[in-house]
Amino acid sequence: MRKLIEGIIEFRRHVYPAYRATFARLAGTQDPDCLFVGCSDSRVVPNLFASTDPGDLFVVRNLGNLVPPFGHERGPGSSPSVGAALEFALHALDVADVVVCGHSNCGAMRGLLSGDLPRGAESLSAWLQHGRPALERLARLPDGGDGIALDASLPEHDRLSQLNVLEQVRHVASYPFVAERVAAGALRLHGWWFDIGTAEVWAFEPDFGRFVRMDEAEAARLKARMGDAGPEPVPEGPADRA
Ligand SMILES: [Zn+2]
Repeated sequence: MRKLIEGIIEFRRHVYPAYRATFARLAGTQDPDCLFVGCSDSRVVPNLFASTDPGDLFVVRNLGNLVPPFGHERGPGSSPSVGAALEFALHALDVADVVVCGHSNCGAMRGLLSGDLPRGAESLSAWLQHGRPALERLARLPDGGDGIALDASLPEHDRLSQLNVLEQVRHVASYPFVAERVAAGALRLHGWWFDIGTAEVWAFEPDFGRFVRMDEAEAARLKARMGDAGPEPVPEGPADRA
C-alpha cells in the first residue's frame, strides 16, 4: 500500500505533466475502440504489455477473465457485471473489438482444475462455475473433435487457461446483440493469452486452430483482417509454439 500512495505522489510530480493534454482531452468523453476482458491477477497489466494510453481500452477485470453466458447473468446469485460492461461497451461506446485475455499460472484456473478452494469461499466457487465448460473441453482433448491444437508442453492449468479464453469468447458471442454485430461485420472477437514469464501475448488464430505468438507476422495478419493495407502476412514457422 505504501508503494501505491507514494506512486500517486510520483505521478503528480513527474508523470502527469507529460499526460496533461491527454487527460484534458479525455475529461469530457471517452472513445475507446476495444473492450478488454482480463484477469484480476496483479501481473496482468494490459496498459503495459499493449502500450496503451488512457482512453484506449475499456477494461473489465475479474477472477479468471470469466464472462457469464447470456441468460446466466440474471437472477438470484448471478453476476450481471460483465453483461453490463458488454452492453455499455457496445451500445454506448460502440467498440469494434472485444478481447478476452487469459494468462499463465492463473490462480483461478489452478483452483478450477484442482477443486482446491479456500474453505467457505462460496462466491469464488460459484463464480468459477463459468469456467467449467473449459474444464470439460480439456478432458476431451486431444481427441475432442474441436480442431484445437494446444501446446502439450504447457502445464495442464495453462492449457485449461487457453481453453478458458476460447470458452469465454464463446460466452461473449452468446449475447444476442454481440452475435448480431459480429454477423454484420461490425464487431470482432479475439482470444488472447499472456505468458507472464516471457511477457509475450499469444493470439488464438482461428485459421490455424491454435495460439500463435503476437509477433510482427501475427500483427500483420490481424490488421489485414481488419482491413488495414499492409504486407502479406508471413505463415508461422514450425518452430512456433502452438
Ligand atoms: Zn488469473
